[in-house]
Amino acid sequence: MKSRTKVVVIGGGIAGCSVLYHLTQEGWSDVVLVERNELTSGTTWHSAAQVTNFGQNQTMVGLKTHSINLYKELADDPDYPINYHYADGGIRLANTDAQMQGYHHFVSVAKGMGVDFEVIDAEECARRHPLISTENLLGGLWDPLDGDIDPAQLCQALARRARKAGAEVYRNTPVTDLTQHKDDTWTVHTEHGDIDCDIVVNCGGYRVNEVGKMMGVHHPVASMEHQYFLTEDIPAIAEAGHRMPLLRCPISDYYSRQEKNGLLVGFYEQGCKTWGLDGIDPNFVNALCPDDLDRITDVLEGAFERMPALMEVGIHSIVNGPITYTIDGAPLIGPIPGKRNAFCAIGLRAGLGEGGGHGWLLAQMIVHGEACYDTWCIDPRRFAGHTNEELTALKAIEDYQNEFRFHFPHEHRPAARPAKTTPLTPVLAAEGAEFTVVNGWERMDYIKPSPDFHPSLSFNFDEAFKLIAAEIKAVQEAVGLCEVNGFNRFEITGADRHAFLDRMFCGAVTKKDGRVGLGYLLNQQGMVKGEATVANLPASDRGPARAWYGSAAAAELHDMDWLTQHLNADEDVQIRSLTNDQTILVLAGPKARDVLSACSRGDWSKQAFPWLSVRECYIGFSPATVLGVSFSGELAYEIHVPNASLYAVYLALRAAGEAHGLKLFGARAVDSMRMEKGFLHWKADLLTEFDPFETGLDRFVKPGKAADFIGKEALLARMAEGPRKKFVTLKIDATHAPAHGGASLLQGETVVGTITSADWGHRTGLNLAYAFVDPALSAPGSTMELELYGARVAAEVIPASPYDQGFDLMRS
Ligand SMILES: Cc1cc2nc3c(=O)[nH]c(=O)nc-3n(C[C@H](O)[C@H](O)[C@H](O)COP(=O)(O)OP(=O)(O)OC[C@H]3O[C@@H](n4cnc5c(N)ncnc54)[C@H](O)[C@@H]3O)c2cc1C
Repeated sequence: MKSRTKVVVIGGGIAGCSVLYHLTQEGWSDVVLVERNELTSGTTWHSAAQVTNFGQNQTMVGLKTHSINLYKELADDPDYPINYHYADGGIRLANTDAQMQGYHHFVSVAKGMGVDFEVIDAEECARRHPLISTENLLGGLWDPLDGDIDPAQLCQALARRARKAGAEVYRNTPVTDLTQHKDDTWTVHTEHGDIDCDIVVNCGGYRVNEVGKMMGVHHPVASMEHQYFLTEDIPAIAEAGHRMPLLRCPISDYYSRQEKNGLLVGFYEQGCKTWGLDGIDPNFVNALCPDDLDRITDVLEGAFERMPALMEVGIHSIVNGPITYTIDGAPLIGPIPGKRNAFCAIGLRAGLGEGGGHGWLLAQMIVHGEACYDTWCIDPRRFAGHTNEELTALKAIEDYQNEFRFHFPHEHRPAARPAKTTPLTPVLAAEGAEFTVVNGWERMDYIKPSPDFHPSLSFNFDEAFKLIAAEIKAVQEAVGLCEVNGFNRFEITGADRHAFLDRMFCGAVTKKDGRVGLGYLLNQQGMVKGEATVANLPASDRGPARAWYGSAAAAELHDMDWLTQHLNADEDVQIRSLTNDQTILVLAGPKARDVLSACSRGDWSKQAFPWLSVRECYIGFSPATVLGVSFSGELAYEIHVPNASLYAVYLALRAAGEAHGLKLFGARAVDSMRMEKGFLHWKADLLTEFDPFETGLDRFVKPGKAADFIGKEALLARMAEGPRKKFVTLKIDATHAPAHGGASLLQGETVVGTITSADWGHRTGLNLAYAFVDPALSAPGSTMELELYGARVAAEVIPASPYDQGFDLMRS
């Protein structure tokens, strides 16, 4: 066994084998995999091993496409062929119009990744899968490349190729502990000796938290027991003359695929069971949980009704094994939050289908710092501070129970809520607030007209449309108040803070006390990594001179890791998170200044406190810090308040607002208004796949500024190449539904762009969308078509910020 290597991958299931192989493909051959037993002896050996292409966003479709292409190549390798039923096809069933509408959207998403799904009716489903009945069936989504693979052979093939490229695999070598050194390198302690390395990768499957504990972290991953059975031969299968496609059923929560001349049918029962939460027997190796068919009777019935042939055939074996879930159903692939030189590929609930792609993207992240796609949807840092075992288990159960039911827009499922609240949450609830969830925070979406108001789930504009219009009207004509909780806020102190921030931002962000600036952070490839406001506060009785760094609620762990990783040892800079201590109240509208002046001493005139100013003050008798910034496009103030004073400040603002018609508004209104102003959302519109010029952030980039900044060199090289896409604002010719992120824009059959976000603009009366499009189509007036749930509608590029184009209102 080597005593030193570059990377140690812990775990030899599909995750570990794929990561190891792909590291070698990215050019790192001094890498090892350490497995406590034999390869695939965790979950992988007993997987149903279906390989599907379906994904709800482009990254998932892209990584699964990589799996399929890789598996096909491995299967065709004459030196070591493996069993892969490639392209049997698969159908996701639907019995509601809303599900069918969703499938149309996912067809459009996949098209942008060069993948052809198809929405088919019930008769066509039955034609392609002769065992199914069309009772209570509207149709389905056809995925032509679905298939299944031999999981053990797949892992052996990957390990074999990795070994050929120089990697080593140590079987029967349990990792017993991990030590991180001052220089961030590691020693991996195993039963057969120590291995020093630069980087460790946790691919521990259901033992993820045993490995996590060795480095002092808890991963939000919980295991569920999951069962499938295999039937005896079904004569109709042999007679069909073709292999049965895969089936996925959101109506009754089961899946099936062909196994020999019978079926393999797996179930996601409502009365499901977590596994291993209180520890896992060290001898649970190549093992299964006891069969428990009683648990699945609820879903079994649905499967029998859909495939009556199942009632006439015997079951020859049952498999019940642990499968890992995270708190949103997607895996955790990337850097481990709060750690250096530590990565993970964990929480895989569809690891055979996705594993090829996960290993590919993670190897890119490890070797290059970033992958070819924006990987936020699988980033381990996307949950912050609320992911203990209990919460993870509750969300895992909910995800398991809804395995094939995709989330609709504005759908927030109820398990493990509320997780993060402020003193205002119950106050707003009493006002009738409907809440959305942002990084665990309950954030007000809008005020409901009655407690039993529940808009229907679909991709259309929903019944809340008019309520949001009314909230926006109040903001536009008078003044509104909105709580923005969970907004990420770091306090940066120390003499070198400005020099540090200058290095982090690609533009010239203000260093002046009392002023606020907006800046963008690039990665080493010169692509857009982050966005933050910086507010410079002079020394006061509340603290030393400091910069407040504010970014999206979801960015908390991501940005903290990024900033702290780039601190120089000799720099006088301290970074402290205020995210859980402070909440923002946004006061917006033409009367905002009057309300503020009525409850806070001092001169709030335009001359004394212009746009982009920051000031410490009191609202009533409570301390607050006010920023003159606007995300709505109206005159607006962000009022940052310590949570202890939040209710008091809220009462003071409401009292002062009464004379001016102050109304509450929520996140849905904010989202609509920001679309009318050309303001972007991190990880919807701001992606690591595009540079700041492609993203239309030209005015925030100063390549010639005195300080070098992260990504400068790469950005200069990119500038010489010219843009591959351009960010635009579009007007969509439809009134019943907005576009949705990921949908494709077309000219004829050619994909010319992808939607990033969309909403109705209530002040402009426009159905708006943002998109990245081919540069030739980025000028206002350019036209293309949007695939809007199966129909083609016109989309026209319009100038950004269609509401108040001169930005006069917010500066007024
Ligand atoms: C019944 C069932 C059916 C499924 N069907 C499908 C399907 O159809 N399609 C699909 O895509 N997915 C399916 N899955 C899920 C899929 O099988 C898993 O997502 C995948 O196998 C997980 O792989 P892994 O590498 O993350 O974990 P594992 O396969 O569990 O591998 C983890 C490895 O880490 C090793 N390890 C742990 N601790 C240590 C240590 N301290 N030192 C060294 N090594 C260690 C373990 O021994 C193990 O070999 C199914 C799962 C189940 C249970």
